[in-house]
Amino acid sequence: MNAPDSQALKLRISPRAESAVRGGHPWIFSDSVTKQNREGIAGEYAIVYDRNNSFLCIGLYDPNSPLRVRVLHSGKPQTLDDAWWSAHWNETVERRKSLFDDQTTGYRCCNGESDGWPGFIVDRYDATLVLKLYTAAWFPHLKRILSLLTPFSERVVLRLSRNIQDSAKSHSLADGQVIFGKPLEGPVRFLENGIAFQADVERGQKTGFFLDQRDNRKRVGALSAKRDILNVFSFAGGFSLAAAAGGARSATDLDISAHALEQAKRNFDLNRETAAIAQCQHACIQANAFDWLKSAESGKYDLIILDPPSLAKREAERAEAVRAYGFLVKQALQLLRKKGILVAASCSAHVSEEEFFSTVQESIRRGNRTFQVLETTGHPPDHPATFPEARYLKCIYIGMDSGR
Ligand code: SAH
Repeated sequence: MNAPDSQALKLRISPRAESAVRGGHPWIFSDSVTKQNREGIAGEYAIVYDRNNSFLCIGLYDPNSPLRVRVLHSGKPQTLDDAWWSAHWNETVERRKSLFDDQTTGYRCCNGESDGWPGFIVDRYDATLVLKLYTAAWFPHLKRILSLLTPFSERVVLRLSRNIQDSAKSHSLADGQVIFGKPLEGPVRFLENGIAFQADVERGQKTGFFLDQRDNRKRVGALSAKRDILNVFSFAGGFSLAAAAGGARSATDLDISAHALEQAKRNFDLNRETAAIAQCQHACIQANAFDWLKSAESGKYDLIILDPPSLAKREAERAEAVRAYGFLVKQALQLLRKKGILVAASCSAHVSEEEFFSTVQESIRRGNRTFQVLETTGHPPDHPATFPEARYLKCIYIGMDSGR
């Protein structure tokens, strides 16, 4: 490493934070910083030294976030020059090399911290890359990074988390902006396991689609032949399309958002040439799932998917979220035919896998129903999760026994 220049931002942190970084944790919180040679600005490199005054790690400094430093590199001293950034990106691309064939052109290329890119997500939708940033610390680095992404795409769209949209203005950046390539002409088309979808990458939730549920959608497809499916919290109909392709008799999408349901209809239209999808009876219900499930008729579906948005965005909401999951399961069971299948997913990082799986099972037992856990799943390989806070996605497949 080049000797750090005397003006470099240098930090010391608490022993506990030091151990966490050594264990691979990518965040240094503001209250762990014990010493600092000067004030820092958003996006500059912070060099962190250990208790023996040796290099511990280097990361992006953010004076406006409780996540004061997001670690880019730890271990041996390292200068983050063009060669390092290029190698860092290539490693990230390499990790996904053998994951997908040409029937899947929508996937996550870079999953933030868990790929070594804290607060930095890249999703591919065919030839369009969508870069989503969660910290203003990336703005000063954008030009350099963009030069790494452009050889892989025809277009790069920038998405910004809400909390950094104001500070983006001073860098002439905005949410939904095309920062490289041709302007967008509406939603972007891509394939997932051979099924065509469109994503609103400019304004849609996340980066336009919930790519993290791809493997669960495929599993649901394999369970759907000749079944009637209810897809609760459907968004753009992803699970329904997979079910239809797998031979479902009918698929009903339920979402509170009219826009999401329009997307679902459009996605069915896109696949009319696939016989199984054309033959599946598709219906949409625009409703609040919590109300609708309470009042709906019983016993109409063979397979029900519950994939709500994060019900616990903060730790304080955890208990309420657990109650809500229990309620959804209880209500869904009323609508499930004998020997039906319930697929329940949670994307709340604050509710652990153990707690979620036991909540679902507890809710079924309370209704005196017997069942088998068919399978449980977690993160797909393009969404690695390398530290506890990154683990949010879990899903349980329940096969109900014949008695009611
Ligand atoms: N299963 C989807 C992703 C679901 S995202 C997929 O595979 O792509 C969560 C969805 O829940 C969003 O579309 C949101 O509009 C919807 N939603 C949020 N609150 C809701 C509510 N109370 N009732 C019904 N839908 C709701």
